[in-house]
Amino acid sequence: LVSNEWKKEPTKVKVKDAEIGDNKVIVAAGPCAVENEEQVLTVAKAVKRAGASILRGGAYKPRTSPYSFQGLGEEGLKILKKASEETGLPIVSEIMDTRDIEIFKKYVDMMQIGARNAQNFDLLKEVGKAGLPVLLKRGMANTVEEWLLTAEYILLEGNGNVVLCERGIRTFEKATRFTIDIGGMVAAKLQTHLPICADPSHPAGKRELVHSLALAAVAAGADMLLIEVHPHPEKALSDSEQQLTPESFEVLMNRIRALANAL
Ligand code: PEP
Ligand code: MN
Repeated sequence: LVSNEWKKEPTKVKVKDAEIGDNKVIVAAGPCAVENEEQVLTVAKAVKRAGASILRGGAYKPRTSPYSFQGLGEEGLKILKKASEETGLPIVSEIMDTRDIEIFKKYVDMMQIGARNAQNFDLLKEVGKAGLPVLLKRGMANTVEEWLLTAEYILLEGNGNVVLCERGIRTFEKATRFTIDIGGMVAAKLQTHLPICADPSHPAGKRELVHSLALAAVAAGADMLLIEVHPHPEKALSDSEQQLTPESFEVLMNRIRALANAL
């Protein structure tokens, strides 16, 4: 079902007013994790002003250590909803557990499946049944073929509104947090009618690298970008080294627009 031999015309995924896969780069931006209302409202207004079309933020966080901040849960989703009502931006947020589907339906416009759950097949099936658009990360050890098959699980439930997201894979390289696989992203795009997103923040691991990786992804044909932005990145409760300041994000948005216009 994900193959462009089966469906010839490119799929456009609508998330409220944002249409992903429609010849314009759609940018989703916001903090790694929802920490409090002031943080989210500040960043939501800033990214909207800079030209983002979707607000991101994690309320349920898949942290490597159980001692790290795990997210605010439903309280975090409520804060995102409030920011959405104030700014008009639709919300994308990560779901980790099938038991949370009804809660997510109340607050979010797009469900994200994270890299660590990319092959949680029961979660893929239930999220597929939920009916909301899905942002599906590539598992950090998944081949392009395996990544496309994870989307197949969702489409098989009758939900074709899936955006695939390259977020870096594990390699021997340690200079970056993950290795963004631009080649794999292009290879996926050649095989599927689904739109493709790139997340430059998680493979970068350091904010100094984020602009370049974002621009590389746009040059390679990404339909969407997912970028972490925090009002005070150095104080962030997760991924503090890779989150952009609102000022840096605004500069990046200008660079993205300039590049997209030149392509
Ligand atoms: C995220 O986008 O918040 C996230 C946890 O990303 P990933 O699943 O790609 O690590
Ligand atoms: Mn993060």
